Amino acid sequence: MEEVQTENKKLALVTGGNRGLGFAWCRQLGKMGFTILLTSRNLEKAQKSAEVLQEEGIEVHAYSLDVTNEESIKETALAVSEKFGKLDLLINNAGINSKSSNNELTFLKNFRLSHLDSQEILKMIHINGIAPTIVAKHFVGLLEKGENPRIVNMSSWLGSVSGKNTGGNYSYATSKASLNMMTRALAYDAQPMGITTVAVNPGWVQTRMGGFSANLSPEESVQRLIDNVVSKLTIEDAGKFFDWDGTEHNW
Ligand code: NAP
Repeated sequence: MEEVQTENKKLALVTGGNRGLGFAWCRQLGKMGFTILLTSRNLEKAQKSAEVLQEEGIEVHAYSLDVTNEESIKETALAVSEKFGKLDLLINNAGINSKSSNNELTFLKNFRLSHLDSQEILKMIHINGIAPTIVAKHFVGLLEKGENPRIVNMSSWLGSVSGKNTGGNYSYATSKASLNMMTRALAYDAQPMGITTVAVNPGWVQTRMGGFSANLSPEESVQRLIDNVVSKLTIEDAGKFFDWDGTEHNW
C-alpha cells in the first residue's frame, strides 16, 4: 500500500488505543508501516498494549492521554512535537456508551426518558462529541507538517439524525450527532491547512462496547475502513461521513 512505500515512516496517533477498535487501528496501521503513537488515559494500559504490538514487530510509542483533560492533551502534543515534529494521521477513537460504566442506574440515566440525568448526558457529550475536536485543536499544527494529513473521527450510525427512528439511547446518539457537526466545522477550518477531516461509522463491532454478538471483528472493521476510506481520502472528501464499506453515510 502507498504508506508502506514511503521512505520516511508516517506517524499515526490513536486515542483509546489500549483496547477494542483503538487497539485494532494501532495494529492494522502498524502492519502497514506507520509508526504508532498508542495513547490511553492510563499510561500503564498504553504501555502494556504497546508491548503486545512491539512483539509483533510494530514500532509503537505509548503515551497517556485522557481526552477530557486538556492539560493531558497539551502535554502529549508537546511530547510528540519534541520527539517527531509532525503527525500524519489522527484517529479520534476514544469513546463511551450508556453501558460503559457497567452500572444499571448510569445506563438508565443516559438511555431512558424516565431516568435522564443532565450531568450524565453532558459527560457523554463531552467525551464523544466535544473532546475529539479539542484533541484536534492541539494537533493541527503538527498535522500541517505531515504528509497527506488526515483526521478520522470515529462516529456511529447512531449519530445519524435522519436514521433515528426509535426512542431511547439519548446520550450516545446526541453525542455522536454532536461529533458529526464538529467534524463538519473542523473539516472546513482544517481544509485550507491541507488536512482532510472525516467522520466514519465502523459498523457493529465485537468490543466491550459493541458486545460479542456484533457482526464484525475489530480487525475486519478497521481493515475495511483503511482500505475503503482512509487510504483513498483526498482533500475533496473533507467534511464527509463514511460507512466502513466506503459509501457515504446519511447525516
Ligand atoms: P471500547 O471497547 O469500549 O473502548 C473504548 C476506548 O475508549 C477504551 O480504550 C477506553 O479506555 C477509551 N476511553 C474512554 N474514555 C476515555 C477518555 N476520557 N480518554 C481516553 N480514552 C478513553 O469501545 P470500541 O467499541 O472500541 O469503540 C471505539 C470507538 O468506536 C468509540 O468512539 C465508539 O463510540 C465507536 N463505535 C463503536 C461501535 C461498536 O460496535 N463497537 C460502533 C460504532 C461506533 P479505557 O480502557 O481506559 O476505558
